[in-house]
Amino acid sequence: MPTACNDKTLKRQIRLQTMTHKLALGWFSFSCCEDSTIVFTELLNDHFDEWSKVIDFQYIRILKKNNKIHNLDVAFVEGAIVSEHDAMKLKEIRKNCKKLIAIGSCAINGMPSAQRNTFDDGKKKEIEFLIEKFHLAEKVRTPGDIVKVDDRVMGCPMSEQAFLDVLNKTLKEFNIV
Ligand code: SF4
Repeated sequence: MPTACNDKTLKRQIRLQTMTHKLALGWFSFSCCEDSTIVFTELLNDHFDEWSKVIDFQYIRILKKNNKIHNLDVAFVEGAIVSEHDAMKLKEIRKNCKKLIAIGSCAINGMPSAQRNTFDDGKKKEIEFLIEKFHLAEKVRTPGDIVKVDDRVMGCPMSEQAFLDVLNKTLKEFNIV
């Protein structure tokens, strides 16, 4: 886990470097409460000036309306995959990113959404109308059940420090800092 000192060093590197390219980043939410998006928004409040020098926020609905899933370096994905529509969009994201990172419990083990996978026949009957109404799949899946996931950020919602660690690691992997 990076120390406060490491974090300062990274900030200094970011300030000093001559930028050649930025990390093309996408942030995607599937079925979930989007609390990790809230955490990310709070982090953006604190880090936007420094991050905007090294990150190109290409797909991020909390910042802008016009977003494109194209040629991303990294895609952060929160939420469980609950329908074929979700699965198709996830495959499109995977095709258009070099690295895909699962964010939070929903995207790592499907919970709490995946509780319905273990419902008995009685409970399944009770929610049948919702499954039909929202065109949901029979089973809730995780992104990792459908596409290759390269890294994970644990927590429900995600841990801020774990996210910063993964983001800083990714910036280094792509030779941005
Ligand atoms: S992991 Fe937790 S906080 Fe994040 S979307 Fe799922 S339920 Fe919400």
